[in-house]
Amino acid sequence: MSKKEFQAESKRLLDLMIHSIYTNREIFLRELISNASDALDKRAYRALTGGEPGLNRNELEIRILPDREARTLTVSDNGVGMDAQALEENLGVIAKSGSLQFKKSMADQENKPEEIDIIGQFGVGFYSAFMVSDTVTVRSRACGSDTAWEWVSSGAEGYEIRECSKDSVGTEIIMQLKLDTEEENYSRFLEEYTLRRLVKKYSDYIRYPINMDVEKRRPVKTAEDSEDKAPEFETYIENETLNDRIPIWHKQKSEVSDEDYNQFYKEKFSDYDNPLKTIHVSTEGVVSYEALLFVPSRTPYDYYTKDYEKGLQLYSSGVLIMDRCAELLPEHFRFVRGVVDSQDLSLNISREMLQQNRQVQVIAGNIEKKIKRELLKMLENERESYETFFKNFGLQLKYGVAGEFGAHKDDLKDLLLFYSSTEQKMVSLAEYASRMKEDQKFVYYACADTIIKADRLPQTETVKAKGYEILYLTDEVDDFVMQILHELDGKEIKSVSSDDIADEEERKTAEEQTKEHKELLDFVKDSLNGKVKEVRFSEKLKTHPVFLSSDGAISLEMEKYFAQANPEGGMKAEHILELNASHPVLALLKEAFASDKERASQLSELLYQLALLIAGFPIEDPTAYADLVCALLAGK
Ligand code: ADP
Ligand code: MG
Repeated sequence: MSKKEFQAESKRLLDLMIHSIYTNREIFLRELISNASDALDKRAYRALTGGEPGLNRNELEIRILPDREARTLTVSDNGVGMDAQALEENLGVIAKSGSLQFKKSMADQENKPEEIDIIGQFGVGFYSAFMVSDTVTVRSRACGSDTAWEWVSSGAEGYEIRECSKDSVGTEIIMQLKLDTEEENYSRFLEEYTLRRLVKKYSDYIRYPINMDVEKRRPVKTAEDSEDKAPEFETYIENETLNDRIPIWHKQKSEVSDEDYNQFYKEKFSDYDNPLKTIHVSTEGVVSYEALLFVPSRTPYDYYTKDYEKGLQLYSSGVLIMDRCAELLPEHFRFVRGVVDSQDLSLNISREMLQQNRQVQVIAGNIEKKIKRELLKMLENERESYETFFKNFGLQLKYGVAGEFGAHKDDLKDLLLFYSSTEQKMVSLAEYASRMKEDQKFVYYACADTIIKADRLPQTETVKAKGYEILYLTDEVDDFVMQILHELDGKEIKSVSSDDIADEEERKTAEEQTKEHKELLDFVKDSLNGKVKEVRFSEKLKTHPVFLSSDGAISLEMEKYFAQANPEGGMKAEHILELNASHPVLALLKEAFASDKERASQLSELLYQLALLIAGFPIEDPTAYADLVCALLAGK
């Protein structure tokens, strides 16, 4: 068979593997063992679900075979194996799971010299064998087939696939190790000591035995054994299982170190950072299960895209039955990664059946409660970690509150953090509530796109002057979240722009002033040509001249949100222009209204434009705005 080329991306990745001065070459063993374990999972699953009767699960194994003379290291398994087509599809192309991430990150890193580092960041899989080998040979026989196939490649030039003979089902990866150089001692991958260490370090929890023939010594028993003669030794070969085999989630918490959990997480979920939080649950009850859950310490790059798939790995008594079981996690905790293992689940459970499955529902319910409890604990005891968590996934929690018409708001509200005007840091709603003043009627918040802008809003000033704490909200969804939450400890949650937050006295005064100057205010409204629904004097202003509020179901924040979604014609709020009766600019307006209607109309337009700016809207026609300001300055 003639030589075939690798796909372009595969070729680049291979080049990286072969030529990199990467120091962490040893991970190749972890990758090959992990692939072997996957292949064994698939074969075990087939056997258990009737696809391959008669297979004894206890015979499934991974073998490591160093051959010092031939300078080869072989990793073999008796898993499902691959036929010619699978070899072609899986090893000729990078398109599969873990490798997909790598592909994307290669694209992101295009032309950057640090690209070498990304090798360590992802499960790069099979190709990592080329970090230590000149030639890699894969010999495989697929489950249910009599023919075996051999895939051979010496790197970037391409690969060949040909028929070969192989007695049993499974796969052998034979690596012809590179020659030692000054920088790297490849021979160490043939040493028993190194191989033991690497299996312990990266693959200890793998549930199948990782076996290796090791040389041992024993004293030779001779007939004339005597005290004064030194004993003679002989060497013999014994099969030894190098790994512990107990899945980490089956172990007692006290037996597992943080380092073990972290290693497991990084290997399993292809993350290069330790998890921020690890949750290990073991429950016996109506449904017994073990779960090992992790909160990542970073937001995955694709987290807020549709590519991100939520879900936990689902095992039934140690046999993997589903890689991402979405039914085990509510939407608002979709950032959690982990595994669930239950002896009460049928192996034959299908995706369609999951939603109705009572056991799955019970487990999902428990897990949700557990995650919430752990997050609350973190909020209480590890504030800094919690704030990191919230920075990464707080938005998800807010969507959770706002979504499904607030169905989950009571579950989630205690987990929210917002920036506080008085504390000048992130605070929880409970903390806000604990500081509320006796006479305080409402819980206040102000929306803007930054904290500084929220703090500078004219409406904010009045509430601040009264000594009340204000929550500054900068996410688009925040306004909506507050409307859904509606109240806190019996006090209504109100925007500082709301009409009804002022005290009676002040409002009466403002209303009287509005009545008194009806003619002037009507004039301003008419000048604005239908752009505002109402113009009035406001009790909410102290030193600033204007601000914009809204009436009706659509708030200003919603208008911004709709404008983003549909710049041409999103739904608009009904604008109300609120003026400060005691601001000097009002005197100018009154004067112009009496003597120069043209100028009064220009001033009206200017005040409206300023109100829009402060509210965070862009100026629709910057040229017209500039002309207007200049005309006013020039007194024309
Ligand atoms: P990943 O494991 O993330 O899918 P890899 O590059 O490690 O990516 O492996 C690519 C694919 O090659 C695997 O998905 C699997 O289908 C196949 N494969 C690799 N090693 C084996 C093996 N030992 N037995 C069966 N299939 C394998
Ligand atoms: Mg892999």
